[in-house]
Amino acid sequence: MNMIARLVQRAKEREVLHKLNGYRDIAATINKQDLRAWNDEQLKAESLRLQSEAKAGTPLDKLLTDAYALVCEAAQRTLGMRPFEVQVMAAIALHEGKLVEMQTGEGKTLAAVMPAYLNAITGKGVHVLTFNDYLANRDAEWMGPVYRLLGLSVGAVQSGMSLAEKQQAYSADITYVTAKEAGFDYLRDSIAMTTGDTVHRAFHYVIVDEADSLLLDEARIPLVIADEAATAGQDGTRFADVAKQLHLDEHFIFDEFKRNVFLTEAGSDKVESLLNCGNLYEAHNVHLLTSIHCALHADALLQRDIDYIVRDGRIELIDEYTGRVAENRHLPEGLQAALEAKEGLASKVGGTILGTITLQHLLRLYPTISGMTATAQASADEFDYVYSLQVVRIPPNRPCIRIDHPHQIYTRKEAKLRALVDEIASVHATGRPILIGTSSVQESDILADRLREVGVSYHVLNAKNDSEEAEIIARAGEIGAVTVSTNMAGRGVDIRLGGGDAKQADAVVELGGLYIIGTLVNESVRIDNQLRGRAGRQGDPGASRFFVSLEDDLLLHRSGIDQAIPSSYRKLRQDEPLDKPALRNKIGHVQRVIMGQNFQIRQELNRYSDMVEEQRLILYKDRLAILTGEMPMSPSEQRVRLFYIDKLWAEHLAYVSYIREGIHLESLADLNPIDEFHARIIKAFGRIQAKIEKETSRMLERLSDSNDPSEWERLGLKGPSSTRTYIINDHYTQRLTSLVEVAVLKMVRKVKHAIGHESS
Ligand code: ADP
Ligand code: MG
Repeated sequence: MNMIARLVQRAKEREVLHKLNGYRDIAATINKQDLRAWNDEQLKAESLRLQSEAKAGTPLDKLLTDAYALVCEAAQRTLGMRPFEVQVMAAIALHEGKLVEMQTGEGKTLAAVMPAYLNAITGKGVHVLTFNDYLANRDAEWMGPVYRLLGLSVGAVQSGMSLAEKQQAYSADITYVTAKEAGFDYLRDSIAMTTGDTVHRAFHYVIVDEADSLLLDEARIPLVIADEAATAGQDGTRFADVAKQLHLDEHFIFDEFKRNVFLTEAGSDKVESLLNCGNLYEAHNVHLLTSIHCALHADALLQRDIDYIVRDGRIELIDEYTGRVAENRHLPEGLQAALEAKEGLASKVGGTILGTITLQHLLRLYPTISGMTATAQASADEFDYVYSLQVVRIPPNRPCIRIDHPHQIYTRKEAKLRALVDEIASVHATGRPILIGTSSVQESDILADRLREVGVSYHVLNAKNDSEEAEIIARAGEIGAVTVSTNMAGRGVDIRLGGGDAKQADAVVELGGLYIIGTLVNESVRIDNQLRGRAGRQGDPGASRFFVSLEDDLLLHRSGIDQAIPSSYRKLRQDEPLDKPALRNKIGHVQRVIMGQNFQIRQELNRYSDMVEEQRLILYKDRLAILTGEMPMSPSEQRVRLFYIDKLWAEHLAYVSYIREGIHLESLADLNPIDEFHARIIKAFGRIQAKIEKETSRMLERLSDSNDPSEWERLGLKGPSSTRTYIINDHYTQRLTSLVEVAVLKMVRKVKHAIGHESS
């Protein structure tokens, strides 16, 4: 670090300290309010007073100390837990709209109750976004008594609930729900024909639990609502056959991160002759080029049983972060079809896309966002840049005494695996519980096989169901437990030493607490830290150690970065670990570089979706005014306008994805696909308003102003009879980083074909 960086760092640290001291002072004031002598009725009356003050316009900041003191007493009475000082501090930061970093097991669930209560007394509704359905339910049930004692209602939304159940849950003062379900519900609302069919109120204040996962890792995921009526999927078999005849290096190459695939000159020749299509890079062949890229991508980059599995005749994608089957997830249309063709499955894609929103855009709809997680600091800059969220690190209630051992580094995978099994077997012999984090289903299977061979009994976490998973993870602290889990499985679940049994807990403490083993380091340091944080909760003893090999994907296949690891190390083929601190620093460096790259890719892709979101918001505002009857005056015109807004928006989305799929292949001349993309969709959007007016007046003429709903139905003025919602996994289409390569190749082809013409 140079001197300026050091000075900046120190200034920041001082600022943080100052902030924490401020929080501590307020927490002390809150603590001084002793409400123990009050009976429940008095607490309720005080809560009523705060509610009417808030509704009369008293700023919430002024009510904070009274409100928090009230919640502290209510929590003590109903749950037997009085929030610790650090929890109150976190609660203050959450109300300020900060991103709170607080270690695992410190009690974030309870801390969130204070700001949730405070922001709900205005009557405008608060959302707490949880990591999964199971936690939405658990937290609403667990914290419910506190809110209810204070006269507020609480609801939990689960996917699959009926409209009426959802309406009830969302009308509660505080609603626990996953971000995805809240988003799907938002999309359903956005195509509703009557307010009676909607579930959301205007968004107000949100607390995002496990915020890094949602706000960063998953932020870009587009949620989609589509018409159920599936149109015939495209026939990808022909392209799959072509792809199978192409060879790596000769016909196609990967980009440096192995995220994209490109045809070489020879590959382009071969494809052109197999398809008999002339110059593949002519504008009229764009669909062929897109299809062949998809087919190649599916064939060469997507690996069965690593990236996806095939079950019941369907592709099921594996979540890169959890290593488990990602429910309800698709690849972008062309790639999904190509993958189905590769596996010889009937295509299941199709159905008009009616609406889409990324989680990031969904969250931006809340006037105030706050969040909490155990792992924020490593991405503090990104939180600030994307959401203007400042990270506040709250110290633990009791100091963390977990021992984080330095990485154990091996030259080869096999040596690492052997060392892992030895370590697990010998620690297990003492009875100390061990939690092992692996990166994929495949890897956990390999490790499990080895453990079986040496007679270590274990649990593998491959539960498809959040509640089963939570139960296995929660028992991972029992004596003799060996739990092999994929990454981040069980986020949000508390691992108690001894599984909650006090006597056993003492014995586990004697053994050194829970021992965490990582079988490799992840792209994101945050994920490593999540795993570590499973041990050492609430001042418990514990330890963590990561095993790394130079043959691991992170260090080997990310060839753009592998120069960071000197090749002299790679040549060593030894069984013993390499004891080189410099090498450990390199690994940390590689992780930082990759995190930076991912950040950049996210930003780049956001530039594509931001403009579409702006357009959506413009139409949505009009639509909402019509839906709620603000304008126009007659019901038939309302219905007609809603119908055409939806119809033209769906057409626009189809156009956007068509343009987006092809834009990087098509716009070779100017090498600036983003500008081209913007220009085209702005033009297309500009025509929408006029079209709505035209179609509306034409239809109104036919309707001759009839306000009879059966007449509307007869003329087809209705929403889709059924819809489905899913998530698009666009992780695999990060082609944008290497646009220039494609463009250059295209130019070469053009010249070549032109010369070919001349000479013939
Ligand atoms: P986090 O979400 O921060 O990982 P949880 O909210 O799951 O933590 O809480 C972890 C554990 O701490 C739970 O078992 C909870 O009962 C306990 N806990 C939280 N706050 C308190 C408190 N103030 N007093 C006693 N126990 C608490
Ligand atoms: Mg939690």
